[in-house]
Amino acid sequence: MRVLILGGTTEATGLARLLAARPDIQATLSYAGRTSSLAPQPIPVRVGGFGGPAGLATYLDAERIDAVVDATHPFAERMSWNAVAASEQTGVPLVALARPPWAPVPGDRWTEVDDLAAAATAFGERPRRVLLTVGRLGLKAFEAAPQHHYLVRSIDPPQDFRLPDARVILDRPPFDRASERALMQGEAVDVLVTKNAGSAATYAKIEAARELGIEVVIVRPPIRPDVATVADPEAALAWLDAHARRPADRGE
Ligand code: NAP
Repeated sequence: MRVLILGGTTEATGLARLLAARPDIQATLSYAGRTSSLAPQPIPVRVGGFGGPAGLATYLDAERIDAVVDATHPFAERMSWNAVAASEQTGVPLVALARPPWAPVPGDRWTEVDDLAAAATAFGERPRRVLLTVGRLGLKAFEAAPQHHYLVRSIDPPQDFRLPDARVILDRPPFDRASERALMQGEAVDVLVTKNAGSAATYAKIEAARELGIEVVIVRPPIRPDVATVADPEAALAWLDAHARRPADRGE
């Protein structure tokens, strides 16, 4: 069975590990190429866009792919819709590997917003100390609120953003609760800004903010296509075993 994983998340990496242990599965992990340093993977990796839905469909045919797992980030909207279109065009089965978004629990001080522009104005005029964990490509929105002190965490160094009072720390998930608490306390953070990505690898910041009574401005995830969805790599593997094309399905 030949599988394409659309990656960019910890869950995609987890599935790559599982599939590497299955000699009957040849899997490829695809990245958009947004981060400069990719962690080593146990399966072959390809990097870069396919050229829209038509380009992805061409790739699926050329590589004789039997199933696609969309394990992109919940905020990577375009790729998920492209995957649906290419799956419909080629008949290659598609499953989304995506956790449900985080839900607030007692003790959380959340302000939920629809996008980054709304996030930038959600914590008011008074200068605050903000931990900004929205990805380096989302920073521009916060130029509308330059009065705050920003601690920007990102995997790669951000470029092309103008915030007069910002410090960047480079780090990549997973993060644990103790280090998230230490960071927030050490930097006297009073607002955390995050996308509601639903990932276990980044949930520790939500727990740390709860424990410290820190306000969280959280961006709701966009609407995703209505496709079969599983919540963890093990379930994705079970889905593949049940639903991927067999050689006979592609006329071999
Ligand atoms: P996007 O808006 O959905 O994608 C833009 C374009 O990038 C797509 O049309 C596609 O180009 C290409 N692309 C996206 N994911 C790809 C993949 N896994 N393999 C090959 N090409 C891919 O996505 P985005 O928000 O720019 O995010 C890009 C990547 O970063 C995603 O893979 C996502 O998992 C990861 N990521 C995103 C976020 C976020 O907050 N958006 C956070 C963490 C990680 P073509 O149309 O040319 O095929």
